[in-house]
Amino acid sequence: MARIKKQRIVDSPPLFSAYKPAGIMRSELRQLPLALDEYEAIRLADYQGMDHAEAAVEMEISRSTFSRLIEEARKKMAQFLIEGRELYIEGGNIHFRGNVIRCRICGHMFNIKIGTVVSNCPECGSPELLNLAGGFGHGLCCVNRINSKEKV
Ligand SMILES: [Zn+2]
Ligand SMILES: [Zn+2]
Repeated sequence: MARIKKQRIVDSPPLFSAYKPAGIMRSELRQLPLALDEYEAIRLADYQGMDHAEAAVEMEISRSTFSRLIEEARKKMAQFLIEGRELYIEGGNIHFRGNVIRCRICGHMFNIKIGTVVSNCPECGSPELLNLAGGFGHGLCCVNRINSKEKV
């Protein structure tokens, strides 16, 4: 029987969801999926410089789970650089704490708490907003996680 994996926490959605080497057509590239939890491991340990214990607390997982996660993520980043694949971010057994909204009209990006409803861009007033967590299929599920935690 498959063990149910505990959900990991990703602070907020990545600003980009796909990356590719310059000058090569997408159709010629092999794909390389990077899970959202692997992205978060790279962000915490390698971008923000946290040690494994701190980063594990951030993601609400054990330190040994974090160490395995970052190892796998680094392997993929190396494959991306060396093999020149199309890397895209998806999936992962996660929920977000926060969300990022991007205005389609002026490009302004801003952070909000997950589940907060914003209908207009604070810069230009446009209602044409892109919900990045929603793009990864998240939103209500993340809010439900927070609410069920608060009740305990
Ligand atoms: Zn705007
Ligand atoms: Zn969610």
